[in-house]
Amino acid sequence: MSPVEIERPRRWDQPFGDRPLSDEWVEKALQQPSMNCIVPEAFPARLPLADLMRHDARLIEAREGNLIVRQGDYGDSVFVLCTGRLLVVVDPEGELGYRHKQDSRKLSWLGAIAQLWRNSSFAEKRSIADPISETGSLTKDGGDSRISLDDRKEFIGRGLPADIQAGEMVGEIAALRRSARTATLVAAEDCQLVEIRWQGIRDLMRFTPDLKHRIEELFRSRGRAHLIEQSPIFSDVPEKLLTAAVKASRFEIHGNEAWNKGLRKWMGDDEGTVSAREETVIEAGDLLDGVRVIVSGFAARITIAAGPAQQTLGYTRPGDLFGLDEIIDSAANGTPALARTSLRAIGTLDLMVIPTDNFLTQIAPYLDEKKLDEQRISRTWSGNLSQGMLDFLVDQRTINGTSAMLIDLDRCTGCDDCVKACAVTHDNNPRFLRRGYRHAHLLVANACMHCVDPVCLVGCPTGAIHRTRTTGVVVIDDLTCIGCGVCVEACPYDSIRTVEIRDQGGNLVVDAKTGAPIVKATKCDLCLGQPAGPACQNACPHDALNRIDFGNPRSLVDWISG
Ligand code: SF4
Ligand code: SF4
Ligand code: SF4
Repeated sequence: MSPVEIERPRRWDQPFGDRPLSDEWVEKALQQPSMNCIVPEAFPARLPLADLMRHDARLIEAREGNLIVRQGDYGDSVFVLCTGRLLVVVDPEGELGYRHKQDSRKLSWLGAIAQLWRNSSFAEKRSIADPISETGSLTKDGGDSRISLDDRKEFIGRGLPADIQAGEMVGEIAALRRSARTATLVAAEDCQLVEIRWQGIRDLMRFTPDLKHRIEELFRSRGRAHLIEQSPIFSDVPEKLLTAAVKASRFEIHGNEAWNKGLRKWMGDDEGTVSAREETVIEAGDLLDGVRVIVSGFAARITIAAGPAQQTLGYTRPGDLFGLDEIIDSAANGTPALARTSLRAIGTLDLMVIPTDNFLTQIAPYLDEKKLDEQRISRTWSGNLSQGMLDFLVDQRTINGTSAMLIDLDRCTGCDDCVKACAVTHDNNPRFLRRGYRHAHLLVANACMHCVDPVCLVGCPTGAIHRTRTTGVVVIDDLTCIGCGVCVEACPYDSIRTVEIRDQGGNLVVDAKTGAPIVKATKCDLCLGQPAGPACQNACPHDALNRIDFGNPRSLVDWISG
């Protein structure tokens, strides 16, 4: 078989929109008040501002009532509203607009069976024409195909609407934190927006410190308002009181965005080295001036002193409260509110501090004891693991996983049915091997965990590696992957690699200029599109392999002890 020659893919081969943004719209977007601090001279010759905007931004034209983004969906783009007005709705119950939710990539049963039988003997066979992108706003081009709400009045009546006016920017929370959208955006009138994908925003901020500062300020102010409003714990608090408490609260950013750098190196150091490198946000014994609400970020470790070292008690997730019992008990007993445990930031950690007085007078009387108990229980469930296991999972940052592949070596017979099933589902190319990090009888395989904070996305120059909008699964778009390997370096779990590729006929694909093989990134895609879910887990005859969401540690405890 002779090699197929193609031009080596580059960053801007595929613009964000169907076509590059026109010069007229590049200019219009840059004139908006939220963007007018950007100056072309600040950009290097290899990355001209106009080219960046042409390729990393796209125009969206929406009609009144069209949904732009939906709360809970994943997306890492920001929107610059050029004309019209948007309504921002935070929906505490998370129901609005979900009747429209659909996953367009789901295969039928027949399609799935056909895929299982497509069992080629060639390595990493790829279509080099069809992108799998499902990211950003709700449709690629907007216009009439954009999802529209059936009953806007009902929608607006149930949320807490706020306006975004022409000239403003929105969407920065999900973009900066690689998290789900925190609010739904709907066009209050006909609108024109320029949507800029993460790669463009990252470079705009890199060369325009003023823009970075503006976006971070937006993040602080909106993060504070939206995230407290959307927390179900506060859903019974009257809106007026909640708004007053939000106004009185302060927003804090802790930790380190580049937490993945050096992690593997530290792991080889002495015991306790990893937790010692985490930022201490609160030390046990500190006087608490308010209740901390974990707003966003990867996780925080809760510890207590055990001699000179720190003992891990558990970890937090967004929506958790820290210091609640101390504040309530101190009010009841008239004693100072001293933190009983320490809080350490793993990765980035965004907190809101509701001052004690505001909390006790405006919020505490309306909190539902049952909801608080549920939260306490879910947080302490991780304490049902052995201390060594809990330390291992937190130190290794396995708790970042929403679908970590764990293998119980006491049950595993080494039959490799899991690897074979993965290979069958992926054209004979397994996306993992049965190896990884081990503690006692538990093996954490080097298979993509579809992280809460997928740091592999940060440096990708094209946006090829991204989260699907509706499921949050981290996938790689073959068409836009240029094989640079930045994601491979960034993943601290050794879960991605680059591979040479072949076309559908089995021919090696090479660079037309140099003859060198073209490579693309590859990793577990959670068998996206398979109705039965991950093939590895389904294939195991001994229930030895499980995909665990560390947002729900109870599932791990149940499985391990089951
Ligand atoms: S590739 Fe690595 S960092 Fe990215 S989601 Fe998967 S495990 Fe997490
Ligand atoms: S190799 Fe990774 S970082 Fe580079 S383009 Fe492909 S997905 Fe993005
Ligand atoms: S299928 Fe199950 S028992 Fe067989 S190797 Fe995989 S995890 Fe082990």
